[in-house]
Amino acid sequence: MIARQSIDEQRALFETDARIVHRLLSQQVVQHDAILDTLALLQPAPGAPVSAAPEQRLPSLYPHILSVQRREHGAAWADPDLASAEQRSAQDRRPALVRPDLASGRYRLVLAALPTAYALTIDLRGMVPWSEWPMKPEASPVRVVLEHEGQRVELQSGDAAALARSGGWRFEFHKHLAAVSQPFGVVAEQRLGWSQLPWGLMLAWTTLVATALTLGAQWQRQRTARRRAEELLRLGQVARLNTLGELAAGMAHELNQPLTAVLANTQAAQRLLAEDPPELDTARQAMAQAVDQSRRAAEVVGRLRRTVERPGTPDGATTAAVLSLDLAEAARRAVHLLEPECLRRSVAPQVQADAAVMVDADPVAVDQIMHNLLMNALQAMDAVPVAQRALQLTLRRDGDAGELAVADRGPGIAPEALPHLFEPFFSTRDGGLGLGLSLCETLAQGMGGSLAAANQPGGGAVFTLRLPLSRGIA
Ligand code: ADP
Repeated sequence: MIARQSIDEQRALFETDARIVHRLLSQQVVQHDAILDTLALLQPAPGAPVSAAPEQRLPSLYPHILSVQRREHGAAWADPDLASAEQRSAQDRRPALVRPDLASGRYRLVLAALPTAYALTIDLRGMVPWSEWPMKPEASPVRVVLEHEGQRVELQSGDAAALARSGGWRFEFHKHLAAVSQPFGVVAEQRLGWSQLPWGLMLAWTTLVATALTLGAQWQRQRTARRRAEELLRLGQVARLNTLGELAAGMAHELNQPLTAVLANTQAAQRLLAEDPPELDTARQAMAQAVDQSRRAAEVVGRLRRTVERPGTPDGATTAAVLSLDLAEAARRAVHLLEPECLRRSVAPQVQADAAVMVDADPVAVDQIMHNLLMNALQAMDAVPVAQRALQLTLRRDGDAGELAVADRGPGIAPEALPHLFEPFFSTRDGGLGLGLSLCETLAQGMGGSLAAANQPGGGAVFTLRLPLSRGIA
């Protein structure tokens, strides 16, 4: 764009200069016609001395008129060329050129008239004074030439070296002078080379644009990273909160059993001791069982304490808000969120969804389920070689449900673990809490859906989340 603008500017400048040169030269040649016409009109008085001839004062008025010749009444031109030119002038009734020799830098113009005819000798290079010339003759790159029937005279040489080269951009101007008697062609030429383009400006502009683009890309990257971090933090907080809820439910479930047993055993011991004689042995056994069960309950409480002691501050209770949302969109978002985790493990998740799968669900809960399923799949695949790893998310509609299947190529689920997968505190992972899947199932069921696990025939596990399709769309 900058180069184009610079070329256009130079071309416009060239054309303006060439037109000015053409106009100035045209004015001069028209003036030559007028001078001759005037001389023809103002015939000298018969017998007036030649020295009194007023036309001899012309060269001092017009320096480019080198001399004025006259043919006296009844006399003939000494030069036969002048004679034949006068003949042509008489025929055409206008001044005629005398066999011009442009290379000499001058030409003669004659007008037939009676009794006395006149001829002017004109300096081609002096026609326009340099003070009026629109260009600097020594510095300008423009060559200006006058041409006539194959002859040429150079008025301004321009940048001859540049004009001799090829390539770049060539500007040309051709136009005849505005006098029929002196039909010289004005030819102006200029060549603009590649090296004359404004490289400095173009380089500065390119650098500026490149810098802006780089900064923009950097800013975009930072923004994506920040958003991802915020989203993970939010998910983490919700997860912790929900996990605590799940934990409490799990605790209630787990404590219920030993506490019931403690109650039953202590009541039995009470009864046995109240008998007469008291059944001491049986009462002792009942108390021993109560102690065992109390220990189990204490263990459960200990586990709770260890979990609650983890850092992090849940920021209040969450309220489930059921909305119509696109499960495919949510899957892509979850994958995007875990991109760094996937990259670290050299796993490239594939999301396959032919169309939007609109379901009625709580977006936060859906995010959390997906996050858990994906993290579980990634962690499971840590156990297999990189080349074997693959993660496929398939979305489809099935009856009145939207379905998401998360299939990995990890070691799969051991047959004995399969029935316990969704139980709270079931975990085969070192440091695993065993609450993730149980929580996911609770969340799925809370939205009227379900979560199921299976092994794939070709190896690896597949978890299928089903959620009710959006009403009105199903
Ligand atoms: P945690 O991850 O804390 O162990 P979860 O409830 O998320 O708890 O998972 C329970 C168990 O289910 C895991 O310990 C693991 O044995 C099994 N599991 C979950 N996802 C997968 C999977 N993709 N492949 C194989 N086993 C899995």
